[in-house]
Amino acid sequence: MFIFDAHLDLSMNALEWNRDLTRPISEIRRREHGQTDKPDRARGTVCLPELRAGNIGLVVATQIARYAKPKHPLGGWCSPQQAWAMTQGQLAWYRAMEEAGEMVQIRNSAELEKHLELWKVDGEGVASASTTGTPKPIGYILSLEGADSILTLSHLERSFEQGLRAVGPAHYGPGTYAFGTDSEGSIGTKGRELLNEMEKLGLILDATHLCDTSFREALDCFGGPVWASHSNARVLTPHNRQFTDEQLKELFRRGAVIGAPLDAWMMIPNWVRAQTTPQNSRLTLDKMVEHMDYICQFAGNARHCGIGTDLDGGFGREQSPADLDTIADLQRLPDLFRAKGYSSTDIEMIMHGNFLRFLRESWA
Ligand SMILES: [Zn+2]
Repeated sequence: MFIFDAHLDLSMNALEWNRDLTRPISEIRRREHGQTDKPDRARGTVCLPELRAGNIGLVVATQIARYAKPKHPLGGWCSPQQAWAMTQGQLAWYRAMEEAGEMVQIRNSAELEKHLELWKVDGEGVASASTTGTPKPIGYILSLEGADSILTLSHLERSFEQGLRAVGPAHYGPGTYAFGTDSEGSIGTKGRELLNEMEKLGLILDATHLCDTSFREALDCFGGPVWASHSNARVLTPHNRQFTDEQLKELFRRGAVIGAPLDAWMMIPNWVRAQTTPQNSRLTLDKMVEHMDYICQFAGNARHCGIGTDLDGGFGREQSPADLDTIADLQRLPDLFRAKGYSSTDIEMIMHGNFLRFLRESWA
């Protein structure tokens, strides 16, 4: 079945992890043996061949570069100009992938429909089983995770011209335009100006990572389309990174689709980095389905649930479900939903249909 993944940091992996994502996963892992600079060395789960193997033909791919003032709790680039330059470097990698025929940027409905035709996904979102022939380019919708790199509103316009279609105003900690995960505060005047400009340009607001105050203010101020690319429910994993039931209701009301992530600490409570393992916590893909089922039951339908794995977001097999070797294992999800009694129509909506509908409506 065709799969839409609403959150991958592909270019960050290419440039900051130094991974050649065009190569097989076994080769990428082999080259990292003995490296210790990142916790997920030799344990990556994402590369372009594995996306193809998993029939994951369309993804939301990020530019990501945080600006950090001296006392920022999590660090980042020392100036907004460096953050901007980093996102431009990341764009250059996506462009190189386009030139190599490995990826293709999707910016509007015409390009979306053409791409779905290439991957044989029909208007109802039914994917054909055929994966033969020459390797297909992975479609990507460009998104900015944390907007600190946007130096001025004219930089947002330039980014839009470059194909940027979604923006999450903040990432971790206090940002220029909003407060993110593990911080708390108002979007202020700068945040409002950014959101107004986003609305004018037709950009999607990604509500993921907004702190509770910034979430409320951003949704009040922004009239355009809203999604949440990679977030779970706070009732199942109590942490400010996840959405409260009130926030979920607001997202449903706005027609949002919420992508379910596979980062272990967001899936089960009390995850301790470097102590808890997928094995000793018995974390499997069933847990992802549990989170997604919660969203569907709470909404009363399957229209707001999607996938946003974040599987290359700074972790690998040490911090993702034990029964997942690579991202291609997402193909096991339809069976898990079937076992829970989900209809084929609902499963197709969850695997790709909801996000496709969202894009078709936003770009109409
Ligand atoms: Zn994230």
